[in-house]
Amino acid sequence: MTEPITDPTSDPTSDPTTAPRPTASAARTDAEPLLALEEVGKRYRPGVLALDRVTLRVPPGRTTGLVGESGSGKSTLARLALGLLAPDGGTVRFDGHDPYRLRGRSGRAVRAGLQFVPQHPGRSLNPALRAGTAVALALAAHGTPRRERRDAVAALFCQVGLDPALARRYPRELSGGQLQRIAVARALATRPRLLVCDEPTSALDRRTQTQVLDLLVGLQAESGLGFLFISHDLAVVRELADRVTVLRQGRVVEEGATGELWDAPRHPYTRALLAAAHNAGTTPTT
Ligand code: ADP
Ligand code: MG
Repeated sequence: MTEPITDPTSDPTSDPTTAPRPTASAARTDAEPLLALEEVGKRYRPGVLALDRVTLRVPPGRTTGLVGESGSGKSTLARLALGLLAPDGGTVRFDGHDPYRLRGRSGRAVRAGLQFVPQHPGRSLNPALRAGTAVALALAAHGTPRRERRDAVAALFCQVGLDPALARRYPRELSGGQLQRIAVARALATRPRLLVCDEPTSALDRRTQTQVLDLLVGLQAESGLGFLFISHDLAVVRELADRVTVLRQGRVVEEGATGELWDAPRHPYTRALLAAAHNAGTTPTT
């Protein structure tokens, strides 16, 4: 493999006498995704395949959506991507590294680039800690010196659209939307390149959902974050994702550019999912 050739004239700051800098934008192309699962298999118990030869990629700064019914293997894929589980077959790579082997000191810098936004931020936050302390601990783990943490917490609160005064509150004193913003702030503390979001808005009401999605879209535009965005809610995925993978019983049934998949789904299962979502969106539910 050779380095991709970059046109020096396209970057006014580049020095044509030196080789292209190995920055994310220069060195990475679609051929080199930020997150890549290749032919990944996972079984929890003999005979039960939670994932069967699943391939999924997230290019840097882009959003890949993962949809499928409950039990189709979405959270299992999230745990594999985050290195919380090891695959039984196939490979998982984040930035060229196996996330499962990024524990310990040497992996910390790469590991910082990969963060998680959970479905239930209320459950993942320690009820005994103030919101600001939870974020400060993430900064501490990332190596931010103590004297800088207070300002860094305030800056992160602002970045996710929260009044820094809320840092003094405990989780029980915050709304669902505020808790989810704090979960995002905590994930951002390590300056990640990829957020794995597992049903991040499923526990929120529609209005709050929209606000949190707008926040994520804004963060991507600002800082080039990539997202693996997991949801059973197709309308939400359509808003955010560049490409979508449809999972059914641990297998990929369809993958494609979001618009194309919506306009011309190839697999009957995708059509059924879209039809169900369409009915849910147009039929008043009481
Ligand atoms: P989803 O997030 O799409 O609802 P999951 O990844 O949670 O799907 O689950 C996929 C399959 O794996 C399901 O059949 C589920 O029951 C099973 N499963 C998930 N986690 C475990 C576990 N820790 N032990 C055993 N089976 C599990
Ligand atoms: Mg799940």
